[in-house]
Amino acid sequence: MDNPLLDTAAGALPAFASIRPEHVEPALEQALVANRAALAQILAGSREGKAGFDDLVPPLEELGDRLQRIWAPVSHLHAVANTPELREAFNRCLPQLARYQTEISQNVELYRLFDAVAKNMPEGGEEGTRALLDHALRDFRLSGVSLPDAEKRRFMEIMEALAEKQAVFEQNLLDAMAAWSHHEADAARLEGIPASTLERAAEAARADGRSGWLFRLDQPGYIAVLTHARSRALRALFHRAWATRASDQAPSPPDFDNSRLMDEILALRHEAAELVGFTDFAEYSLATKMAGSVQEVRSFLDRLTAASRHAAQQEFAELEAFAGHPLAAWDVAFYSEELRRQKFAISDEELRPYFPLPRVLAGLIGLVGRLYGLRLEADGQVDVWHPAARYFRVLDAGGTLIGGLYTDFYTRPEKRSGAWMDDAISRKRLGGPLQLPVAHLVCNFAPPSASTPSLLSHDEVLTLFHEMGHALHHLLTRIDYPSVAGIHGVPWDAVELPSQFMEGFAWEPEILAMISGHHQGGAPLPRELVDRLRASRVFQGAMHMVRQLEFALFDLRIHAEYAPGQGGRIMQLLGEVRDAVAVVPAAAYDRFPHGFAHIFGGGYAAGYYSYKWAEVLSSDAYAAFEEEGVLNPAPAARFRREILEIGGTRDIGVAFRAFRGRPPDIAALLRHSGITAAAAGETATAPA
Ligand SMILES: [Zn+2]
Repeated sequence: MDNPLLDTAAGALPAFASIRPEHVEPALEQALVANRAALAQILAGSREGKAGFDDLVPPLEELGDRLQRIWAPVSHLHAVANTPELREAFNRCLPQLARYQTEISQNVELYRLFDAVAKNMPEGGEEGTRALLDHALRDFRLSGVSLPDAEKRRFMEIMEALAEKQAVFEQNLLDAMAAWSHHEADAARLEGIPASTLERAAEAARADGRSGWLFRLDQPGYIAVLTHARSRALRALFHRAWATRASDQAPSPPDFDNSRLMDEILALRHEAAELVGFTDFAEYSLATKMAGSVQEVRSFLDRLTAASRHAAQQEFAELEAFAGHPLAAWDVAFYSEELRRQKFAISDEELRPYFPLPRVLAGLIGLVGRLYGLRLEADGQVDVWHPAARYFRVLDAGGTLIGGLYTDFYTRPEKRSGAWMDDAISRKRLGGPLQLPVAHLVCNFAPPSASTPSLLSHDEVLTLFHEMGHALHHLLTRIDYPSVAGIHGVPWDAVELPSQFMEGFAWEPEILAMISGHHQGGAPLPRELVDRLRASRVFQGAMHMVRQLEFALFDLRIHAEYAPGQGGRIMQLLGEVRDAVAVVPAAAYDRFPHGFAHIFGGGYAAGYYSYKWAEVLSSDAYAAFEEEGVLNPAPAARFRREILEIGGTRDIGVAFRAFRGRPPDIAALLRHSGITAAAAGETATAPA
């Protein structure tokens, strides 16, 4: 075969080493032509009476999977082995892909066929088929497929306008940050700032033909200054720059003010939601999520607030007492760091030597073996994209092959930052041979040097466990329809359940013993360090909690309470939320919403609560292991059966109850955050 991307046979792995940028467009175009022809054939067949489930769903699942099989390696290479040529090919393909997706989601004939199949479907039936049809119908409706022509056109117009305005919001934010800099000539003012941050600033000054230090506004630099700079004036200067980005209060030119754009985005979202039959955008957003209603999310957030606010006030009072004076917004990170150091005397640098990556990975694989009976066997023969990438065969307890896992752990210039799990191949059985799932697990750890292996901080250990949790969710699925297998079709507010759940293990003394071993001599993490590490876990847990609740409530309320004619009322609603939730005083100039890209850039709009929602589920699920024994295979078997295997085929609330024997309870999250029921001033109760 000339084009390696076109080999999508069930047992084939991508031929990564042979894929070239010039393969990308022809492969995608060929697949789209073939898919469009196949779709036309399916529709023609339906007009001649072939309109049952088997005539419609398996063939369409095949089309979706073929596209995914071709596009997954491309988008993976784009993320881990980027080149200008690949990026160009990738970008040229995006509009073609979007057009194809729109054709499908706006196809009225297809929608009616799905609707008829769903109506004729008997109760019960094959696992997952009901959920598959429900998801498909829901997505058709959410994209306005059944609207009269004029309204449909308006809906599409709004979607395009939103895509553009959300992109401009993010661009303004970047431009506003790029427009700001601070030159410092006085070394005394920089006292406390870490050497690596100062080196970067000195380099920037030199590149600008100046002496001293030139600071630009980026997140790592901002956090380093706020956390470590002893100069209060310098912290205040940086805080003002950060908290007013892209706003009317910003020192940057007014061109980057996001104020009007935010109003426009809220208005468009509201209009789109109304067009497809919802009262507001929050309700529209929740249509695809586990949470049932705006009221349910609101009372969930209110309950967490009631449980944590008092504890957060106490933590803040402790911090002010430690500082010896009232604290402004730009003091909090600095004194928190000082207090943390004094209380726990623990640093990343002290922990790293005990967490060499090979040891941590072997321990994690051992843990997965103890919990689920899985074996991961490295296979050096499989074609990969970089010498550091590896492939593991994943075997079940009986030795049956159930999937595969690619790992790529080290940071490289041509690799996107962050850590993630991605779907390489989905499980599929549609009458033909079984296609086993394959996952990518990607991190950005420091590579080994000639003398030292890659040494992880405990945060990085948590990251590795987190991504392994996502990978297990993808690999252990027993669902045969790709669109609802593994992580597909899982609601956004529940998809972090299996990943955050895995993090819990990385705090247990017995697991820390399995995954640690000093890179010189192999000694496990000493007991005394284990204790300090565990104690530091809950430091300021309630303050972090109320900060997240502030974001989540603000996001929910601006979308749920939007009223045309009144505008966004963004600062007003933020003020109300802060009065009810926040414990740290906000500066009068603070324009936090203008930089809140999570929700105004898209993605998390009316969905920011998902972080806490999933954390309640994951903490409570993990608590079952605390109760029954962290290495006990019994809760593991239950977790696998009820949560990891079901993909998007079951209501997650029902699945959770099947696993836990009761609905989710917020108590475990409060305890894991160091918030005791006594400090909370009330007994924690279950979310609905
Ligand atoms: Zn995650």
